[in-house]
Amino acid sequence: MNTETRKRLPDILLAWYDQTARVLPWRDDPTPYRVWVSEIMLQQTRVDAVMPYYENFMSHVPTLRDLAEIPLEKLLKLWEGLGYYSRAENLKKAAMRIMEEHEGELPVRYEDWIRLPGIGPYTAGAIASIACGQKTTAVDGNVLRVFSRLTADVRDITDAGTRKDIGRLVALSLPDTRTGDYNQALMELGATVCLPSGAPRCSICPVSSLCEAFHQGNMQSYPVKPAKKKRIIQKKTVLIIECEGKFALRQRPVGGLLPGLWEFPVLEGCLSVRECRDMLREQGTEIQGILPLDGARHVFTHLEWHMTAYHILVKEQYGPRDWIWASREQIRDDHAIASALKTYTGHVVAR
Ligand code: SF4
Repeated sequence: MNTETRKRLPDILLAWYDQTARVLPWRDDPTPYRVWVSEIMLQQTRVDAVMPYYENFMSHVPTLRDLAEIPLEKLLKLWEGLGYYSRAENLKKAAMRIMEEHEGELPVRYEDWIRLPGIGPYTAGAIASIACGQKTTAVDGNVLRVFSRLTADVRDITDAGTRKDIGRLVALSLPDTRTGDYNQALMELGATVCLPSGAPRCSICPVSSLCEAFHQGNMQSYPVKPAKKKRIIQKKTVLIIECEGKFALRQRPVGGLLPGLWEFPVLEGCLSVRECRDMLREQGTEIQGILPLDGARHVFTHLEWHMTAYHILVKEQYGPRDWIWASREQIRDDHAIASALKTYTGHVVAR
């Protein structure tokens, strides 16, 4: 990217952003707290999926102090459905640290944001530039894609060296004023025009005249990526065990997948009705009936759960010591159930 292109890019993008930026709740009043929460929710989650959670979260946890003081179980319940729950735990840890070590003053500088739990270089740059007026980059997947196309970069985009070089190029293009808006404009272009899958919408792109891939006519060849690894498939059997209107739940261990969340008992493998019955009888449970439910699939980053499920009526609230028994209302209001099981949470709560 030559110096002339770097100079023109911010002016064109800012003018386009002023006219077309999406109306988003955290853009109305971009205080550091509101931008921080939005950026954490937006990690690995799409804007349209975050919107309803953001409004609800802000109405329950409107300030830093509220976030530092909210019980973790209640916080996870508010986060239920967004997934990647460690984000919520880190948000609370960071809030507690700011209250204890910085007298409740949210940081301003990139260097201070990045020291907090759950905050990496992109998030620190986004908050510092958007909410605190700092001249820093915020290079996410959208920005990497846009720049790899603008410059027709033939190197592997997953390579750390390539990403570092693109980051440097983005830094060189930063305007002296409105850096936060420029960062948001780059992200907005990636999210709404220079799309990741399918064809980029070059016919409406404000920077097509500066785009090397567009001039070459091979926009979809960028960014260059290595062949994808296949996800690991894990088969699971979910047991919705009901006794007198209460359901067996257990808490997932800390340190594994979905730590600390609640789940209906989940067994390894795809068990038949007979195998489930035999297994429960062996542990001394008296069964009144077993109803097979529809299967479900949940995709994590590196693996997929393919689930078989049974709704099982039992005579007594009996089972391993780590089980608890919860009513529909408690499942709906008090326990954060792993979103991987949302099909079955819906089955229980909707009845
Ligand atoms: Fe992306 Fe096309 Fe715009 Fe280039 S012209 S930045 S490929 S949308």
